[in-house]
Amino acid sequence: MKHLLLLIAIVIHLSFVSSPPSGTVVYVCVSKSSVAYHSTNTCSGLSRCSHEIKAMSISDAIAMGKRDCHICHPPTR
Ligand SMILES: [Zn+2]
Repeated sequence: MKHLLLLIAIVIHLSFVSSPPSGTVVYVCVSKSSVAYHSTNTCSGLSRCSHEIKAMSISDAIAMGKRDCHICHPPTR
């Protein structure tokens, strides 16, 4: 029974992670020197990133002070 509850918890967690509630997912380099968010994690603007590349909702990226990338042109909101 405990295993079933754990499984349900994992499934709920995964479905939450794969579909963030606040819209479009963008990719941000977790570096203090990075200033932009990207529409794809393969953007050449991210190839210089030596830190972790993190997927997050666009509203979170904007809240972190990131702007839209000039290379891959993600949506602005
Ligand atoms: Zn980009």
